[in-house]
Amino acid sequence: MNSARFILDVHLGKLARLLRMAGFDTLYRNNLDDPEIIQIAEEEDRIVLTRDRGILKNKRVKRGHFVKSPYAKEQLREVIDVFQLKNNIHFLSRCIACNGNIEEVRKEEIEKELKPGTMQYFHEFFRCQDCGKIYWEGSHFDRMMHFYEEMKQDLGINRNE
Ligand SMILES: [Zn+2]
Repeated sequence: MNSARFILDVHLGKLARLLRMAGFDTLYRNNLDDPEIIQIAEEEDRIVLTRDRGILKNKRVKRGHFVKSPYAKEQLREVIDVFQLKNNIHFLSRCIACNGNIEEVRKEEIEKELKPGTMQYFHEFFRCQDCGKIYWEGSHFDRMMHFYEEMKQDLGINRNE
């Protein structure tokens, strides 16, 4: 399990998706204001990631980080570096859309929800336990895998997992 849990400000939507892709528990909603973020961070022991230094000056924020880069991929790298999370990446364990847990699911169970083409050509499926979003090799997998490989190289991760 990853020890680091995050909550992101409204400016970091893209980073939120990348963090989830890497398997980190990442709370993000585009309508959270500063007091709400502070409240949730406190209650759920989350690290505040923000592009707004103001929020980090609040004494109630115990752990936070001002994200320097304006670019999502660099931001991800920055966060992984700062919090030393290189070995805590768990690809395809979290839903990119809602942060829920993803688990492998048998094709038969989701047959009715898939388009015929998808059924025919793909065999490995995962489903978000919270929102029900289905992931499969092909569309999602390829994009995520490509990104993941890139990231591993970037971070100098050689372990094959
Ligand atoms: Zn989901």
